[in-house]
Amino acid sequence: MTLHISDTRTGEKRPFTPLDETVRIYVCGMTPKAPPHVGHGFMFVHMDVVRRYLEHRGYKVRHLQNFTDIDDKIIDRARAIGQDPLEYAEEQTRAYFEVLDRLRVRHAHEYPTVTGSMAEIVEAVQHLIDRGVAYATSQGVYFSVPDFPSYGCLSGRTEELGVEAGARVEVDPEKRDPRDFALWKLAPDDEIGWDSPWGRGRPGWHIECSTMIHTAFGNQIDIHGGGADLIFPHHENEIAQSEAATGESPFVQHWMHTGLLQTDGEKMAHSAGNYTTLADVLQVVEPDVLRLFFLSVHYRTAMGFSMEALQPSAAAYERLRGIMRARGGDTSGDAETLAAASTDAQREFEAAMDDDFNAPRAIGALFELGRSINRAAPSATPGAVADAQDRLRQLLGVLGVEVTEDPADAADAAPYIELLVEIRGMAREARQWELADRVRDRLADLEVVLEDTPDGTIWRHTTPTDP
Ligand SMILES: [Zn+2]
Repeated sequence: MTLHISDTRTGEKRPFTPLDETVRIYVCGMTPKAPPHVGHGFMFVHMDVVRRYLEHRGYKVRHLQNFTDIDDKIIDRARAIGQDPLEYAEEQTRAYFEVLDRLRVRHAHEYPTVTGSMAEIVEAVQHLIDRGVAYATSQGVYFSVPDFPSYGCLSGRTEELGVEAGARVEVDPEKRDPRDFALWKLAPDDEIGWDSPWGRGRPGWHIECSTMIHTAFGNQIDIHGGGADLIFPHHENEIAQSEAATGESPFVQHWMHTGLLQTDGEKMAHSAGNYTTLADVLQVVEPDVLRLFFLSVHYRTAMGFSMEALQPSAAAYERLRGIMRARGGDTSGDAETLAAASTDAQREFEAAMDDDFNAPRAIGALFELGRSINRAAPSATPGAVADAQDRLRQLLGVLGVEVTEDPADAADAAPYIELLVEIRGMAREARQWELADRVRDRLADLEVVLEDTPDGTIWRHTTPTDP
């Protein structure tokens, strides 16, 4: 089975053949104007799983994700609280990492920013003017849509956008075609701006992604990810800019668009004000529960969100904890059944993920293995059960899910563990070695390790790296 990945542009699910030894992935990141909400989490977790699975399949991956660290809304919000816009964006960027780290979303290899890419952006705009597909007016620079005949190839949409919601700028009367979009906008004197051949200003939103991709990767990439709400105009415009600049097509092999998270039937968005922040959700549920929730649908599916909707995922996570606590009951018992179940589960897991990253089906295969473990444990050898649990743990890891101990359980157990450690110490002093060893061994069965140090005995819960 080969890995197949959908592509929004062609509407096809095609075998994945990387352009080069290293797979090039670009994901449209945050405009750090407010804390990330659950809809952002959905997209970033699914794209994280894409990368993790590619690495599991042995691909080398380079993953880039931008921060649009200056835009009109950042300027507005910073101004409203009397803060410098760049400082404000930096703070919001830190907030992004705090919460996405808890969700175990792995870091991109690079995080280019608009403010850090200004020279390259100005160069890219000039290049489009030189190629005859962009022009300057007294207010800025525009991409000339009629000069790019493939416009609409991604979204099937070519209509004019009109004035974007919330934009303060009036329509420029010198625009040649209503569909033309801004590559550079002159900034008012009292606003932050950068010098350019066309005057002091700021780049349009779309040009940053084309520029960052070109700077880091060249003319073509394997995978471009983002939410489905970016298909038009953002990604349509990225294609226009990139392909008009290089003459090479397709600029992206696989456009991967994640479904939009819905709340009460509407898209969750900062602009709609109907959002729940990730930080708020993580106050109530564990990060792995939220990951399981996101991965319970295919990445292209629109998902409904409410706090109640998290319940089945919380229950599923508790089942995983139970599965990981199972112990083989018979040292001379069955070792074959679980080995076969593990192999089947891995095969089914990979077949599901090879089919355009079908995470819900892959999770189904893992729970099937979990059921086998529970069923077989009483008559299986401890080693066979532990091996099957290891396989399960490893495959869950490909989805970025870790089965951790319930923090509430751990806290509850601590005083009793300390009591047992104390009793063992007394037994040792009384040279009752058999009793002392029994306490130590029984605690080990319960995944508590004791270490005798010159300062006394310390205890901790076993970690996956323990032998
Ligand atoms: Zn982008």
